[in-house]
Amino acid sequence: MIEKIAHIGIAVKDIDKHLKLYRDILGMKIGERVKVPDQGVEVVFLETGDTRIELLQPLNEDANINKFLEKRGEGQHHICLEVDDIEAELKNLEENGIQLIDKKPRKGACGEMVAFLHPKSTGGVLIELEQKKK
Ligand code: ZN
Repeated sequence: MIEKIAHIGIAVKDIDKHLKLYRDILGMKIGERVKVPDQGVEVVFLETGDTRIELLQPLNEDANINKFLEKRGEGQHHICLEVDDIEAELKNLEENGIQLIDKKPRKGACGEMVAFLHPKSTGGVLIELEQKKK
């Protein structure tokens, strides 16, 4: 079951450059800022009440997100949906023929389990599922 939109991911080249807008001009609160080496990104979460905005920047030249930035430039990268049982959700999606990037959940930026669905199956949007905190 989908609980809510957990966050919206925006790919940027330089997080600090964009904090001027979100933090200084719009006055949003900065949440966690973490490096996720196995995904090749550094992320920062901006608090917006019940949902968050996640800015992602590449950690190095080999990062996957560089391909996105080269092809499409900075912009909306993914939508993250919070689910109550990520394992059950992935099984349900797979049984219904939805193409998964991650067949098994892996650790996300903030320690919770996440998995991505392939945009081919979702109308062109990269969707991340995130296990609701228990
Ligand atoms: Zn995300």
